[in-house]
Amino acid sequence: MINLELPKKLRASANQAHQVAQEIFRPISRKYDLGEHDYPVELDTMAAMVEGLADSGTQKIGGAAGGRSDGDEHATELLGNTNGGNMSALLNALETSWGDVGLMLSIPYQGLGNAAIAAVATDEQLKRFGKVWASMAITEPSFGSDSAAVTTTAVLDGDEWVLNGEKIFVTAGQRSTHIVVWASVDRSLGRAAIKSFVVPRDAPGLSVARLEHKLGIKASDTAVLLLQDCRIPKDNILGSPEVNVEKGFAGVMQTFDNTRPLVAAMAVGVARAALEELRAILKDAGIEPSYDIPANNQPAAAAEFLRMEADYEAAYLLSLRAAWMADNKKPNSLEASMSKAKAGRTGTDVTLKAVELAGTIGYSQRTLLEKWGRDSKILDIFEGTQQIQQLIVARRILGKTSAELK
Ligand SMILES: Cc1cc2nc3c(=O)[nH]c(=O)nc-3n(C[C@H](O)[C@H](O)[C@H](O)COP(=O)(O)OP(=O)(O)OC[C@H]3O[C@@H](n4cnc5c(N)ncnc54)[C@H](O)[C@@H]3O)c2cc1C
Repeated sequence: MINLELPKKLRASANQAHQVAQEIFRPISRKYDLGEHDYPVELDTMAAMVEGLADSGTQKIGGAAGGRSDGDEHATELLGNTNGGNMSALLNALETSWGDVGLMLSIPYQGLGNAAIAAVATDEQLKRFGKVWASMAITEPSFGSDSAAVTTTAVLDGDEWVLNGEKIFVTAGQRSTHIVVWASVDRSLGRAAIKSFVVPRDAPGLSVARLEHKLGIKASDTAVLLLQDCRIPKDNILGSPEVNVEKGFAGVMQTFDNTRPLVAAMAVGVARAALEELRAILKDAGIEPSYDIPANNQPAAAAEFLRMEADYEAAYLLSLRAAWMADNKKPNSLEASMSKAKAGRTGTDVTLKAVELAGTIGYSQRTLLEKWGRDSKILDIFEGTQQIQQLIVARRILGKTSAELK
């Protein structure tokens, strides 16, 4: 028998995150959806709380801080798990995204760059960057999905790296205290020369060119960043500065193994929010899905609900498995992509279907259903699109390289 129950310790921190989502995020969700680019001041209180909790060594609230695969900060009982950093981060991301995924992406000190730091930083760097709020800057005007096409450069000049390039669509790119930037240390050596660098907000030569207006996650700032002879200390490079052509860019790609399950969990959280809202609306209309009667003998809306709930469960369990593997030092690239593909698609399917089944209530602003329909789309795009995740899964299963299967 597989025990799918969460360990007590994880349940406690997930409950705490759920409280935050319910008490802080939901009440201000529509306000920041309508006020794009307004700073959610309510999150400052949270920042103080998160910092306090981090100081006392207890759980972080949000989730994208990620857990280092070999970390040992959260003991759990699940399946002999030695630590639960990734699982705990994942559950917190899920719960807070249930509240509002745009606000979740704006929680101070919990950026996707934090997960990247946690995945590859040395112990000394972990100490130095332990309390930063790091966003993640990979995408450039010339590419998105093909992350091997980085053109931003990093050149060593004495004790400093000098960075030049343009990064676009950086989540929390204006508010974060640090930015993890992907840049090439030698463009003639191809993808193996791509490294990640921690760039402090006040680094000379770093500037925000503009903020994007978007379909959803309007509470989250999305910035274009310019690096013009931007200088950072030599030891702000994450991982080894050596270029190992054999190894390719496995080092930086490793960060996705931590971040993809987290984004999957965000999609699962939004899907759950929509399912709960829809269940209540259907109940008001006299429709209650039954688990004792075959779906085809129930009202069409109830049958749809059951199908969506099954997809939601599958996405949830896939993302949990990917995080569990990371916590247990098992290679999880395949499972991370599987969870992201399934959850990304489920997030958009469920939220839009909920809009449809709820009729005019779903399309209006009387509930948050239409907002979740808009918010969920990004979760099937960033940290690798649906198509890219499917490509990775296919490559892994068929044993093909990226050159063989494009
Ligand atoms: C709101 C928002 C926030 C973001 N935040 C960040 C961030 O914090 N940091 C960051 O670095 N980036 C961020 N991004 C960028 C995001 O990661 C990219 O948009 C994404 O990787 C896709 O790249 P692209 O938009 O250039 O699309 P493209 O790569 O041009 O792809 C366009 C379409 O073609 C498909 N496609 C591409 N290649 C293939 C292929 N080989 N086979 C089949 N289909 C393919 C894609 O799936 C997609 O549907 C963000 C984007 C948005 C919209």
